Amino acid sequence: MSVESKQIEFGRFRQDMLERDADGHLIGRDPRDLTAEQLIAAGAEPAILKAVRAKCLDCCCEQPTEVRKCTAVDCALWPYRLGRNPFNRRELTEEQRVALSDRMKKFREEARTVPQPPEGPAPSKISTPSLETARRAPIRIGGRP
Ligand code: SF4
Repeated sequence: MSVESKQIEFGRFRQDMLERDADGHLIGRDPRDLTAEQLIAAGAEPAILKAVRAKCLDCCCEQPTEVRKCTAVDCALWPYRLGRNPFNRRELTEEQRVALSDRMKKFREEARTVPQPPEGPAPSKISTPSLETARRAPIRIGGRP
């Protein structure tokens, strides 16, 4: 699925991931306040290594060879950019590999039972505060709001 079609498909659910703060500024919600179904419906990847891989592909214009060649060794994601955890070198037996794969498939199938999008046309764009409004916004340092 192309990046654009993903945006269209998940766009209707993305508003669940945003909220307005006390000053009316659009901010991201705390993902811990969302259900797994809401997160998946909005396109979030439940498997952390797949999420890292997706971010690295996004960073490299969807070019796997460029992710492989990435020289940004200071990037926190660099060790994980190939979708594997190099700190986990546990060797699995074929039986363990199949069992793990089945468990992950089952988890994904359950998680993909998502709610239907709201009725009506899909929003073409989520409104964002103007630059002037953003400039006047108070700056928060650290901690959750
Ligand atoms: S590891 Fe490289 S490809 Fe991945 S996000 Fe960092 S800079 Fe981008």
